[in-house]
Amino acid sequence: LQFSKNEIDENNQLVNQIVTMDTYQLTNVIKSLPKDLKNALLIELAAEIEEDANEFDPDVIEEDTGFPDEKISNLIRLREYIRKQYEIAPMVQYEPKLLRVRVSRGKDRENIGKRYKGYCQMCEKPSRFWEVAEIFNNPTKELEFMNLSLCPTCASKYRQLRNDKTIMMNFAKNIRSAEIIDPSALIDEDCVTFTKAHLAEIQMVLELDKSIPIFKEVEYL
Ligand SMILES: [Zn+2]
Repeated sequence: LQFSKNEIDENNQLVNQIVTMDTYQLTNVIKSLPKDLKNALLIELAAEIEEDANEFDPDVIEEDTGFPDEKISNLIRLREYIRKQYEIAPMVQYEPKLLRVRVSRGKDRENIGKRYKGYCQMCEKPSRFWEVAEIFNNPTKELEFMNLSLCPTCASKYRQLRNDKTIMMNFAKNIRSAEIIDPSALIDEDCVTFTKAHLAEIQMVLELDKSIPIFKEVEYL
């Protein structure tokens, strides 16, 4: 059994809807599916959830010691380093098999959670159960810093926001215009805070990567 490209796209759309459902809605949807689709969907869902990593980090100090700062000693050097990283970053690759598996991802994304010492970039509180969420859907390159460190509550909120194209276009614009001195960007009614270095890294990639549809459209705004 192989899925065609169209079927994979439809599946992905469905998966995007499903990952934002609550348990009750989800149970009903799954109950209503024919058996082989049910199995395929569950495998696909597992793969999707795999894309955003969950991490339990017992070393996180859960009392508030201050949101990490990551001062930049040399912005020009940092931007040059990111430009090189971007050039050599592997392309995101999928192999269409029974399910769509992202084969290019490394295990280095947990660095983001470590850099934020378990702090959530939305509520700015530390959590031992931090999650790493891809900033934008469907990235073209594997770059570990194109992720956010979030607590479980904000992570599920973020995944909902991430499916809204208009919200994400505005978020991308806000990231681009954010100042290193106040490294934060509004996303809908919420705010995502970055370390100075992390913001500079993301801004550099937004300059370089014209392939992400969101940014192409931002150019026209
Ligand atoms: Zn949070």
